[in-house]
Amino acid sequence: MEPEPFSERLRAPEALTFDDVLLKPQESTVEPDEADTTTRVSTNVKLTVPVLSAAMDTVTESEMAVAMARNGGMGVLHRNMGVEEMVEQVRRVKRADELVIPFEEVVTVDPDSTVREADELMEREGVGGAPVTDTDDEVLGIISSTDVRPHLEVDETDPVQKAMTDEVVTVPVDVVAREAFERMYEHKIERVPVVDGENRLVGLVTMQGILQRREYDDAARDPDGALRVGAAVGPNETDRALAADEAGADVLFIDCAHAHNRSVIESARHITDETGADVVVGNVGTREAAADVVDFADGIKVGIGPGSICTTRVVTGAGMPQITAVAQVADVASQHDVPVIADGGIRYSGDAIKAIAAGADAVMLGSYFAGTDAAPGRVITMNGKRYKQYRGMGSVGAMQSGDGNRYLKDEEEFVPEGVEAATPYKGTLASELHQLVGGMQSGMGYVGAASIPAFKERAEFIRVSPAGQQESHPHDVVITDEAPNYSPNDE
Ligand code: 5GP
Repeated sequence: MEPEPFSERLRAPEALTFDDVLLKPQESTVEPDEADTTTRVSTNVKLTVPVLSAAMDTVTESEMAVAMARNGGMGVLHRNMGVEEMVEQVRRVKRADELVIPFEEVVTVDPDSTVREADELMEREGVGGAPVTDTDDEVLGIISSTDVRPHLEVDETDPVQKAMTDEVVTVPVDVVAREAFERMYEHKIERVPVVDGENRLVGLVTMQGILQRREYDDAARDPDGALRVGAAVGPNETDRALAADEAGADVLFIDCAHAHNRSVIESARHITDETGADVVVGNVGTREAAADVVDFADGIKVGIGPGSICTTRVVTGAGMPQITAVAQVADVASQHDVPVIADGGIRYSGDAIKAIAAGADAVMLGSYFAGTDAAPGRVITMNGKRYKQYRGMGSVGAMQSGDGNRYLKDEEEFVPEGVEAATPYKGTLASELHQLVGGMQSGMGYVGAASIPAFKERAEFIRVSPAGQQESHPHDVVITDEAPNYSPNDE
């Protein structure tokens, strides 16, 4: 067969990104705050908010992951840390809103210590009460800070046994929140020890812990009630994958800049088989790549070069504008009922909901969250304005402090595909996420869809000319006050 003339390549297909399209407004009966954003990020994991924070060392560590999950989304821990550190961080997220404080963390008091010693111990540990246990961990009583205040019958040199309550209300190991709450309410107490069949201490439930959980009604929780968390693993990091899975990570994310590569796919398949966990494979940007991973992936992550700190497209000449990339992958994934995550390039809530209209089930963001309190790193001041550091995982700095194998790495000299930057300081994660999700819900309202599946079915795009793009942003005015969801710096 005659080779195709090179000039045929110039008939290249067009690909679109966020600013090239708008959602067509449609007749609606949906009030934005009624739009349900529940979605699936992987085969077995549902979230009430379709948003993930990026696996980057200036975005997601345990503090961000806790904040994301409490607000209904999920954080994906980066992998520029050792395996042990990652395990510790997964555990920290899992324990953050734990109903039962585990045995190792419960402050206990020896029955023979004095009232004063017990008082000092509780003060030092910042607890208002503690179970009194013998050397076999059997619960003999419970003591609270009011019991140790000197009063008529108790002196501070008396043994704890004299001051404690010895008729202890306890709950069994398989306690659930409502039951524990009812027992505490009924007996007007603040804490109940959790005991095994032989009355040995296994953990502690506190009223404060229960009330804290109630504050986060829509939190992303696993079946045991612990917060959800994702973990990034390199394609060859089976050990990290096994350790993170064992520690309780809900979803593993194969963290690779170009997953449409035979050895990456083989390794990802291996990790899926070895762990049995939900594994999201990425990043990819074409229907061909999606077809090659869809039979084993529990989710597919899309994004070749759209990220704000990313230089892949200019350094390598390769990439795919994000709206087209998402739509191509979603064409394949939707046939197999596999969720799609649009990763990178989202600057506004409008971009996020456009990604869903293009076929994504959830979105992943880096720069949007990097300026919040929950992101790692401190606030820096430049020219009187506050910023936080934000850098690409393929930047020189990030590759030097990690293993760098997401991008090409030479022992001597890196070939970076990302930059190191600063992003404006933004305050709390909860308020940023509120703006993001609120904007997405308004988008659903304009399309007349009350749920993500209905929105994906109903949404239509309009192509926008350069003049239309200009019209979309504030124009012909000088902005005098920054809006919470739009900054002229973003332009
Ligand atoms: P953002 O939300 O800031 O636009 O994009 C975040 C996403 O960019 C990340 O989730 C990740 O997929 C991608 N990313 C992170 N660091 C780099 C990098 O150094 N180079 C490239 N090409 N992409 C990056």
